[in-house]
Amino acid sequence: MQDSSGRGKITEIYEKLLAFFGPQGWWPVYSDNGPRYHPGDFSYPKTDIQRIEIAFGAILTQQSSWKNAEKALFNLMEHGLLDLEGILETEEEILRNIIRSSGYFRQKAERLKLFSGFVLDRHGDMEDLFSSDTKELRRELLSVKGIGNETADSIILYAAKKPKFVVDAYTFRLIERMGIAEERDYDSVQRLFEEEMPKNLEIYSEYHALLVELGKNHCRKKPNCTDCPLKQICLYNKKA
Ligand code: SF4
Repeated sequence: MQDSSGRGKITEIYEKLLAFFGPQGWWPVYSDNGPRYHPGDFSYPKTDIQRIEIAFGAILTQQSSWKNAEKALFNLMEHGLLDLEGILETEEEILRNIIRSSGYFRQKAERLKLFSGFVLDRHGDMEDLFSSDTKELRRELLSVKGIGNETADSIILYAAKKPKFVVDAYTFRLIERMGIAEERDYDSVQRLFEEEMPKNLEIYSEYHALLVELGKNHCRKKPNCTDCPLKQICLYNKKA
């Protein structure tokens, strides 16, 4: 679906969102003063601890708001548990309490342990895990119980820094309302974005973050279209 200048709708959405919200600087990583977004700086993560922080964050935010996941992440940090061995050595009951704020803490404690065990057994550290090519890395991550498409792709994009488009509930909702696709199928929606947008780490990183920003502020369950940057090109808004 292309406009008169030859741009597709997916490109147009990206341009409008970036112009409206500006660079988002995902994924936040901790500095001395707390979690920090780093707009325009794609050098993060810089250390194995930051890679672990992003991977654990991606697990903790499953079915939870980032705010609650972040509290759990902070607690892990306070306990010195942004550490794969440390997670394995911590009793599951204790780990559940540490990450309680993230919700579904029983499953998530198990998932943190399974993920940590998988990295240590198969690779030794995050850097070695991420040395595989994107396809192999994705296959490996998906083989870990509790890691689905969105979590795997978040880890690949933001922690391993390999261009893989992340699809989430906000993405599905938006493309339905924009009249781009109706089927909520992860792989085909991901393909739509990856086929139209250049395979570029910075663009994929920004695009997903911008869709989350739009979903939180405008394209909610009950949409707030009045100030939405996409209202001129949105099918839902035109019909309304
Ligand atoms: S115009 Fe309304 S429905 Fe369309 S993307 Fe914006 S908030 Fe969502």
